[in-house]
Amino acid sequence: MDSLYLILFFLFGLCFGSFFCVVGTRLGRDESFLKGRSHCDICNHPLFWYDMIPLISFLLQKGKCRYCKASIFPLSFFIELFTGLLFMISYYSFGFSSSLLIALLAVSLTMIVITSDLLYFIIPDEVLLFFSICFLIVQFFRLGPVDTLLQLGSGLLLFLVMYGLLCLGNLLFKKESLGGGDVKLLFVIGLVLNPFLGLISIFLASFIALPISLVLYYFKREKMIPFGPFLLLSFLLLFFSKITTEDIVQFILSISFKL
Ligand SMILES: [Zn+2]
Repeated sequence: MDSLYLILFFLFGLCFGSFFCVVGTRLGRDESFLKGRSHCDICNHPLFWYDMIPLISFLLQKGKCRYCKASIFPLSFFIELFTGLLFMISYYSFGFSSSLLIALLAVSLTMIVITSDLLYFIIPDEVLLFFSICFLIVQFFRLGPVDTLLQLGSGLLLFLVMYGLLCLGNLLFKKESLGGGDVKLLFVIGLVLNPFLGLISIFLASFIALPISLVLYYFKREKMIPFGPFLLLSFLLLFFSKITTEDIVQFILSISFKL
């Protein structure tokens, strides 16, 4: 494993992370991310290249806008850092392979959705469409036409399962429990994971989200938390761990035998 490549992937990740944050924020506000200069959200002062160096600008300016001294929400710092780390881990785990492309796409999707869903409770359709097409193209070259069709079926199946859960949740809680974006997100996840692992990702996401939502409710009376980031974190966990359906079945069997 060439350490130079690890560093390069980390640096690429930092720059892409900065871009993902802009995409997530602007699409979440229904703005174009291609037009318009970056500016401070508080004083509207245009930002120059030296205000936008990933990680460094935030640290040098101590998390404050250079012009109005307002505190900058540290989300962009963390998105940049984690994109850098996860790009590096992607290369470390998969080397130069077609799986590396899937990993990089999955990390990119996760970072954009975390930004838009945390800030605006929105998972933009154009993001889901873009990544669906990318995943299908990579899968076509990675798996061939038949297995790509199977992945498409997996996506549709998981979409239907999540839609069922949404209807059930609405019925039980008499209000919107999940967003439409979460349902569509499962379709995209299904293009990579098989239906069984997709179901596990929903289960895992709920498992991680429940304690966090209880803590947020206890301290901040926060009743709604976005579910998309949890779904995507579970998706990344399952994909990077390279866990298979057989591994999970074996694990469940070994537990039930002990009981
Ligand atoms: Zn400012």
